[in-house]
Order: sequence, then C-alpha cells, then structure tokens
Amino acid sequence: MSSTPATSAPLAPQETTQTDVLIVGAGPVGLFAAFQAGVLGLKCELIDVLDRPGGQCTELYPEKPIYDIPAVPGCLAQDLVDRLMEQCAPFAFPMHFSQRADSVSEHAGADGHPRLLVTTDAGKRFDVAAVLICAGAGAFAPQRVALPEAAALEDRHLHYAVRDTSRFAGRRVIVAGGGDSALDWALALRKVAGRVTLLHRREGFRAADHTVASMRAAVAAGEMDFVVGMLGGLQTDDAGKLTAATIKTRDGEQTLPADELVALYGLVSEPGPIAQWDMDMRAGRIVVDTTTYESSRRGIFAAGDICFYPNKQKLILSGFHEAALALRKAYHYANPQKSLVHVHTSNNAALKEKLTHA
Ligand SMILES: Cc1cc2nc3c(=O)[nH]c(=O)nc-3n(C[C@H](O)[C@H](O)[C@H](O)COP(=O)(O)OP(=O)(O)OC[C@H]3O[C@@H](n4cnc5c(N)ncnc54)[C@H](O)[C@@H]3O)c2cc1C
Repeated sequence: MSSTPATSAPLAPQETTQTDVLIVGAGPVGLFAAFQAGVLGLKCELIDVLDRPGGQCTELYPEKPIYDIPAVPGCLAQDLVDRLMEQCAPFAFPMHFSQRADSVSEHAGADGHPRLLVTTDAGKRFDVAAVLICAGAGAFAPQRVALPEAAALEDRHLHYAVRDTSRFAGRRVIVAGGGDSALDWALALRKVAGRVTLLHRREGFRAADHTVASMRAAVAAGEMDFVVGMLGGLQTDDAGKLTAATIKTRDGEQTLPADELVALYGLVSEPGPIAQWDMDMRAGRIVVDTTTYESSRRGIFAAGDICFYPNKQKLILSGFHEAALALRKAYHYANPQKSLVHVHTSNNAALKEKLTHA
C-alpha cells in the first residue's frame, strides 16, 4: 500500500508489463490522455478499479446531458465516454479493469534512467517511465453493509457486485438496494436463483421507470419478492454460512431465510492508496506544477479532478488540457534522447492514416 524508497538496482525481469506511461483511471480524462499518448507516439496502458471505463460520467450520471465539451453542443455523459473510447481505439492500448493501483517504487532502467514500478491489488506490475494519475475523486468502492457481522461474510455470502450469475444458482438471494443495479440484478438473478427477494427501504426507487415496471411485473407474476425494510442483522450457522437476515420493517422485525446477500447501495469515492504515494497533497488531491502537471514526485503526473492547483476547475475540459501537457513532459522521461517535435495530427502521415482509417 505504500511507496518504497528509490533503489539503484535494475528491476528483476518478473511478470511485469513494460510500457512508456501507465494511466491510472479510465474516466473521461484518462481516456482522452490515452488518445493524447497515442498522438505523441507514446505507448501506454490504462487501469481502473471499476469493471468498465467512464469514471463519474458512467457511474454517476450516464443519462445527464453535458453541454460544455468544446465542439460538442450537447451529448449524454455515456455518449461522451463512448466517443472517447472510439477516439482512442485506433491505438489499441490495453485497458485493465478491476485493478486498483496500490503501490509505486522507483528503480533504474536498463539504460540507467529512472523508472517507476506500479503494482495493483490484483497483482499486476507495470514498469513505466511515467505514471499519469487521472483518478478523479479517488477509487470508487461499494457502499458497504454497516453491520458488524458483515465483514466476515464478504466475498463468501455477501457480495457487492455480481460477476458470475451461476454462483447464485438455486440459492435464496436477497438483493438490497433501490437503484438500477439492484433492480437489474434482482431481475437477472431470478432466472437462476432458488428465490430472489429485493429489499429496499421504501416503495420508491432511483431506477429507470421501465426497470421498475419490469420488477413490479415480476413480483406480480410470483417470480420474485419485494420487501420494504432495512437490514437489521445477519445470521450464520456454525460453519459461518449465511442462513437468514433480520429485516426491520414498519411493522417490526421479520426473519428472511437467505443463502446470499447482494448489497448494491451505490458507490463511494475513497482517496485510496494513491494518497500514500509520498506526493504533496492538498485536501486529498495531488498538488501539481501547472507547467507540466507533474506532482512533487518525479515521473508521477496528475490530471483531472484528482489534481490540485490554485483556481483548478473540476471540469472535463480542464482535465483534457492538463493530461495533454502532462504527457508532453512524460514523453521526455520515456524518450530521454529524443526531442518532441510538435506536429499537428494532420501533418503526420502515419498518424493521419491511423486515425483516418480507424
Ligand atoms: C452529477 C455530476 C454532473 C457533472 N456534470 C459535468 C458537466 O456537465 N461538465 C463537466 O465538464 N463536468 C461535469 N462533472 C464533473 C466531471 O464528471 C468530472 O470533472 C470528471 O468526471 C473528472 O474526470 P476524471 O477522469 O478526472 O475522474 P473520474 O471521472 O472520477 O474518473 C476517475 C477514475 O479513476 C478510477 N480510479 C481512482 N483511483 C484509482 C486507483 N487507485 N486505481 C485504479 N483506478 C482508480 C476511478 O474508478 C474512476 O473510474 C459532473 C460531475 C457530477 C458528479
């Protein structure tokens, strides 16, 4: 979780991805940064702790219109993400999802120039000339069940995401939550589970009307249950397996037999391990030099909502600019012997070909 001091020894050639730049965060700024890296002739890879790109646009407001992207008079947030994906697609940079950047350390490259080694919580290692942190408000994490007995059940019988529906085959499942995810998964799981109960603290939902209508139709058809109430406790057997949940309802308490609990209460942003990377921080954000967007730590840059400087605006267009400048400095770390010659994309034949025929 923490950074370690610089070492002068070359890195052991273990299973490590070598590239020029690692972009941490595949929100709108990270995606545009990938495009910029391609334009500059840099190789890069992206990681995101979530299982899909888009950051806040996708997670918080996919159907809200955005009107302040240059040359885009209006588009939905998810459309913007789709277009950014399309824009960087010609470079085919690998994107690694469900990977949280955890630690960073310095080492000497084969040519003696400093490099960085980033490891993720899933054990991936990236040996890079520069890191561009586009981590927004921090790593999104699920809002957890606030019961003392919940932690021991996590990943066994308490789930904050559904990755494999077959895991729930024949099981009695409680899906807790009132947003699109909770309703979508309750509807999907009813097809494989023994029985699904949707649990929400009130009758109203924060989900699309058609999804709510589908859920109510499934309940009316007897395909699943819906209970209005809140989790009051989780019961386990001697082997630590979930057996039931106590539900607090308006009329008192009831016990609901259950083998699995899927809690989809939404996401919260956490500063995450990056806050321990020995960079100057201000109010949870990374202080950058606005000529290069480099942090106080050599080779680590920050762009988008995660960076801090006087008068910083948390807007997508600001992040695009910050990433573009950061990568120009990162270029020199990746190519210490070369100078970066500025050309417009249309004057670079190979690039023009790549972008035109994508
Ligand atoms: C409701 C709402 C409406 C908005 N409307 C507008 C608007 O109209 N116009 C506008 O310009 N802006 C708008 N914004 C702000 C805009 O969404 C942000 O400025 C923008 O999303 C910042 O982009 P980003 O890529 O820096 O960060 P994010 O979008 O937050 O993406 C960061 C990504 O980094 C990932 N991440 C974080 N830490 C790690 C880690 N350690 N390892 C791996 N991955 C990590 C996160 O999972 C996330 O996917 C709005 C924001 C909200 C909440």
